[in-house]
Amino acid sequence: MEDVPDTVTDSVTDSDTDTVTDSVTVYDYCIVGGGVLGCAIGKTLLEKEPDAKILIVEKFANAGFGNSSRSNALYRNIFDTELNIQISASSLLYYGSEEAKGEDFGRREIGYLFLWTQEQYDTYLEPSLDHQGERFSFFDFLDAHSIDYEVFNAEQLKQRWPDLELEPTGELAEMIAANKISWGFWGKNCGAYLPDLVVKHYLKKFMQMGGQTLYNTRVTALKLGAVDSAEFDPDYVPAVWQPHEIKAIEVDRDGQSSYIHSKRFVLATGAWINQLLDPLGGRSMIKAKKRQLFTIDHVSDFIFSNNFSQDHSTIPFVILPTGGVYIKPLDKAGALVVGTSDKIGRSFAPTYSLRGDRDLDAEMDDPQAEDDFFMYNILPIMQAYFPGVFDDLTKIKGSAGHYAYSIDGNPVIDKVKGVPNLFFASGASGSGIMKADSIARLCAAVARGEPVAKLFNGTEIDVRIFGVETRDLPDETLVL
Ligand SMILES: Cc1cc2nc3c(=O)[nH]c(=O)nc-3n(C[C@H](O)[C@H](O)[C@H](O)COP(=O)(O)OP(=O)(O)OC[C@H]3O[C@@H](n4cnc5c(N)ncnc54)[C@H](O)[C@@H]3O)c2cc1C
Repeated sequence: MEDVPDTVTDSVTDSDTDTVTDSVTVYDYCIVGGGVLGCAIGKTLLEKEPDAKILIVEKFANAGFGNSSRSNALYRNIFDTELNIQISASSLLYYGSEEAKGEDFGRREIGYLFLWTQEQYDTYLEPSLDHQGERFSFFDFLDAHSIDYEVFNAEQLKQRWPDLELEPTGELAEMIAANKISWGFWGKNCGAYLPDLVVKHYLKKFMQMGGQTLYNTRVTALKLGAVDSAEFDPDYVPAVWQPHEIKAIEVDRDGQSSYIHSKRFVLATGAWINQLLDPLGGRSMIKAKKRQLFTIDHVSDFIFSNNFSQDHSTIPFVILPTGGVYIKPLDKAGALVVGTSDKIGRSFAPTYSLRGDRDLDAEMDDPQAEDDFFMYNILPIMQAYFPGVFDDLTKIKGSAGHYAYSIDGNPVIDKVKGVPNLFFASGASGSGIMKADSIARLCAAVARGEPVAKLFNGTEIDVRIFGVETRDLPDETLVL
């Protein structure tokens, strides 16, 4: 990936200087965070404003080194809200259009296989979803959106996947209260990307259009100033009667503190969103939680032992009906990635000072996978549904990152109340890779003061519905 352009350093004022001089660059947009969203937002803004001076500031050594690189990077068009179908489908259409021009996102369309109990299946038959003023069952809802899927009964499942135990029995199955599988739901136009290639694509486009990046640079504070003052005063103390805006960001680079100035600032800091917003008094409605993935090597026999599709030799991405455990095959490596999103018992990551407790900062910046979590939570479930396959497992490789969870599973994209030139996009809740293009278009519209965003597929969306106080979104229940 590209190096930091030299010109960028010229625009950083030393914190001792305190005031913005004529020689100092004032960017049109400064984006904090070089993950998939920051890079996609930068690219989208430059497409709309080709002459804009835009800088992405990132604390790690390169773009995508935060949670984007720790992602499973799965994509799907299966959701139970129309909105999520739209924002995901439009992003996927964008990726497809770039693939048609030769771009490589490392995509493998292996499908999603949800394994359901009878009770779950019955719920999906109920007319519980809104579509154009009528109540639709999940299946009718997907049909109305022309989504390709297939449903398998128990017998068909067994025929397609002999390794799968539909009704686990015995001591272990009893201990984990393994649910009996009665149905399989296979979403066909779903699969996985390579997250690094997705980030690289947005970054490449951003740089080609003249975007600039500054890596190894941690933003330590958002500096307010009076709207009607041209001077930058780092010691400005806001008064309730005074309109203010962000005049600069304070950054730490190699232990040196300095300021970067811009007309508008966009926080694309993902799970770290509250680190800068909380000290300012801004609200995001987002909380971060650790999520872990574990790789099991040398399981070629297992991942290729199925008859799901003639197009794909491996098993699909699978979601088991106990503990939310999911399995992703890696065909080239002959390996599996497994995980689950534990809820109660797993704390939200605390919001804390950037310059405070080093252990807490490390917990967010370099989260570690817990082998015990795999051994006591995931492995017994795998052993119950695939008897004999994982009995001798001794070695796994874990990785960990954080989801930025919003309250309803949808992203939060807004202007910070009371600060007219500060915007943010976060809360992708585990689907930021697959929805990046749409989230970027929504955020670019918000930052440009446009009331409506036009997605790649032409869908127009009122951007206020993603805001903190103007939020008007349905609850998405299909969050993994
Ligand atoms: C284990 C796991 C599995 C996932 N699986 C999927 C999946 O299957 N499909 C899917 O679509 N999504 C998935 N996701 C979610 C997806 O990865 C995220 O939604 C997406 O990466 C969020 O992008 P982002 O740009 O908001 O965040 P990030 O990639 O985390 O980028 C934020 C950036 O901001 C930088 N930053 C933060 N604070 C500062 C600061 N003060 N100064 C400078 N820089 C700062 C960080 O260093 C970071 O690089 C998964 C995530 C995890 C952790």
